[in-house]
Amino acid sequence: MRTLQLYLEDSYLKELDAEVVDVREGAILDRTIFYAASGGQPSDSGTMIGAGTYEVKEVTKREEIIHLTEPLPSVGEKVLLQIDWERRYKLMRQHTSIHVVSSIAMKEFGAMITGNQIYPDYSRIDFNFRDWNNNISHSLQARVNEELRKNQEVSVIKMKREEILGMQGALKVDPRLLPTSDMLRVVKIGDVDMQPDGGTHVKNTSEIGEIEIYKIENKGKNNKRMYFSVHR
Ligand SMILES: [Zn+2]
Repeated sequence: MRTLQLYLEDSYLKELDAEVVDVREGAILDRTIFYAASGGQPSDSGTMIGAGTYEVKEVTKREEIIHLTEPLPSVGEKVLLQIDWERRYKLMRQHTSIHVVSSIAMKEFGAMITGNQIYPDYSRIDFNFRDWNNNISHSLQARVNEELRKNQEVSVIKMKREEILGMQGALKVDPRLLPTSDMLRVVKIGDVDMQPDGGTHVKNTSEIGEIEIYKIENKGKNNKRMYFSVHR
């Protein structure tokens, strides 16, 4: 991986100077603020301005972070990166709130989370729960909003792999999906949630507002799909 991922340290960077170090099906940069799709959070879009203006349509991460642009820049070109901040900020608010929803759904309602996907205007969570009903949805929504209103600070810390994996409830995904490094990036939301995570988050739950659970779908016997939006 040749690209320094600056959004991991600061999710609020909207612009950055960078250099194109390679061009394949897209541009590889020395550093970036564009989030590459993973962990349920879609990639950023935006523009890259160098000798020309390049529209960044999608960013993917495999061995390298590839910025799929239209048209393609040249190797060695100096570019100014600008992310679509309005879209990214919505995704940050959704991402932090999905951690709070998942954590409370697991800890207080006994739901088992099996998947999630974030979009700018809503999120969905797949979970396993036999007799889910509207009353439970309302209680969950009320509990989440109560926690969000406490203005809980969101911090990004480094923790030893064994330490975070040993913590009750911290792991919400298959450990094989986590990076193999000894130290993991952990996102901590006040006293409500803590888990290894590579996404971009707001600094305080006060930036989110409230969530609204607006739909629950049945996806098989015990499997449900819950949709929620956030409003300020
Ligand atoms: Zn996450």
